[in-house]
Amino acid sequence: MPRQWGGADLRFGSSMAEPGASWGKELSNREVVIRLLKIAWHYWGTCLLLLILQGVLLALFLAAVELTSVGIDFIHHKIRPSIQPPRWPFYFQPDATWTSTEVLVVIALLMVALGLIRGVLNFWYKMKEADLIERQVMFDLRSGTYDKLQRLNFSFFDANASGSLINRVTADTRAMGTFISMVVIQTVILFLSLLFYFGYMMSIHVTLTLACLSTIPLLYYLSSRFSKSVRDDYAKSAELADTMVLTLSESLSGISVVKGFAREDIEKEKFQAINCHVRDQKKSIFNKVSLFTPSVNFLSHINIIILLAYGGYLMSKGEFPLGQLVVFVGLLQQFAGQVQNLSNITNTVQQNLIGARRVFEILDASIEIANQPNPLPLKKARGSIEFKNVTFGYKHAEPVLENLSFEIKPGQCVAVLGPTGAGKSTMMSLIPRFYDQQEGSVTIDGLSAKTLDLEDLRKSIGIVFQENFLFSNTIAANIAFGHPEATQGQIERAARSAIAHDFIMNLPKGYETVLGEGGLTLSGGQRQRLAIARALLLEPAILLLDDATAAIDAQTEKEILEAMDHAMKGRTTIIVAHRLSTLRRADVVFVMEHGRIVQAGRHEDLLNSEGHYQRIAELQLVDAKNLYNSAETKS
Ligand code: ADP
Repeated sequence: MPRQWGGADLRFGSSMAEPGASWGKELSNREVVIRLLKIAWHYWGTCLLLLILQGVLLALFLAAVELTSVGIDFIHHKIRPSIQPPRWPFYFQPDATWTSTEVLVVIALLMVALGLIRGVLNFWYKMKEADLIERQVMFDLRSGTYDKLQRLNFSFFDANASGSLINRVTADTRAMGTFISMVVIQTVILFLSLLFYFGYMMSIHVTLTLACLSTIPLLYYLSSRFSKSVRDDYAKSAELADTMVLTLSESLSGISVVKGFAREDIEKEKFQAINCHVRDQKKSIFNKVSLFTPSVNFLSHINIIILLAYGGYLMSKGEFPLGQLVVFVGLLQQFAGQVQNLSNITNTVQQNLIGARRVFEILDASIEIANQPNPLPLKKARGSIEFKNVTFGYKHAEPVLENLSFEIKPGQCVAVLGPTGAGKSTMMSLIPRFYDQQEGSVTIDGLSAKTLDLEDLRKSIGIVFQENFLFSNTIAANIAFGHPEATQGQIERAARSAIAHDFIMNLPKGYETVLGEGGLTLSGGQRQRLAIARALLLEPAILLLDDATAAIDAQTEKEILEAMDHAMKGRTTIIVAHRLSTLRRADVVFVMEHGRIVQAGRHEDLLNSEGHYQRIAELQLVDAKNLYNSAETKS
């Protein structure tokens, strides 16, 4: 079971975004880190185990170092008895009867045993760490982000390109996982080991330790300069990656247009340009990293030089045993290695914070359209719709619908006609609350749509758009998309109503035929009929057909509408249509212009009154006559 991140969980104390804004406020680095730490806290059990394992590994390492030092000093003492014998650790004292070889064999065996135990513990550590990051943290983050995306409003998707959202769910959640492993766990381990090494070295020789580590402040200064300088580069890099994915996905989904207009070369150049941008951006980061890493290395070499000079001097005065000098070299190298890790971590921190911020932006985006407290159920809608002085604009200052008012009775069929951009689709999208109006009210069965349970409301409405998305699944599953428990009988009935049954039966596997990506293997008309069947299967009280039959020829449209007559009985239907044959069937026709209804009435009445409807009707009749005449002349 994925961890339920549901909104508030992943917010971890962040303030809600302002109402009306799709994005939350920009988080500072500090806030991002605090929230990431809180996420890591959810997995504190495994994190603690990892830290304990690292603590044990460190202790074992130091024990091995101590044994090395003892071994060297033992040999040194045997060669030159004037030199002090070693200090035996852990209250261990070899028996006086043991020969030198026996002592060395015991030391060697102990080191082999320590090495074996460290190997096993290291293996366990790596397994646990991978399990935590890959199987727990990233799985939960991806589920949480995807869950939030599913609940966000249309306005959010209007404002955000799909390429960027895909990157956020995939690459950026990975960056967050890396942050938890690299920064939260490894930084603690790093400081823990630095502390261990430091304590151990100090216990051997205080001034030598301080002298050897005198370059640390400079190293800290370099790291923070580096962090600042790469921060913007990483942000830019993430943006460019989004653009690249968007360019790629657009040219792939629009491949027929690209090929149809012979634009392959131009598209190739477009992709090449963005690809070059990504490459150059990476190069700038790479240059900075390449400069930083050797600088850190150089500083660690200075440490060794100080050790050899000062440590050698102490040894020549007999104040420092050879074994411990060798141990110091080893520890300083470890120290340098950890400091090198520190630079890697600083480097990844910037990258990961940007990724994390982008994921938090999704998690914090406000869900403007959601259930109010105690929403009213709408299990069996009757289907009356009323708009009262509705004003709406995608941008607040630019209304698309202005003061729009109308009433539709249950079971009525309303056709909507009007020029492109008049606001027909926008008006329809307010009924299932894809967007909320800024002023006025939309009521369903006399109840404000905003007070109704959103799921009930949307399940009461069947929608068919001009372009409908079909999933890469079987035809049956596509029809039953809104009602997965539907029986085969229900699916077929819906398909028959949409005049889809016959063509489906002619497909190789009938209802079990799997559609290609986006249903591309079907013709436009066939896809449209499947979409109509999908809407009808819901048996909705309200049916919205937004130019749904525009891509279908007039004859098929007539057949579909005739077949749907039965299905439409008892349902409130709104059809955006342009053909007289469709408009004629409606109980009432609304003519929309500039976001208002400028004419309303029955087909016959509108035909006889001056206005947009009459002009459109005349144009269509003239067209039909011309077509008929030319056909006559030809014959
Ligand atoms: P119609 O369906 O009558 O052709 P629409 O309702 O689609 O008209 O569009 C009405 C106006 O709203 C147009 O100017 C259109 O550009 C704008 N519009 C439509 N959808 C969006 C959107 N998602 N974001 C911003 N503006 C939009």
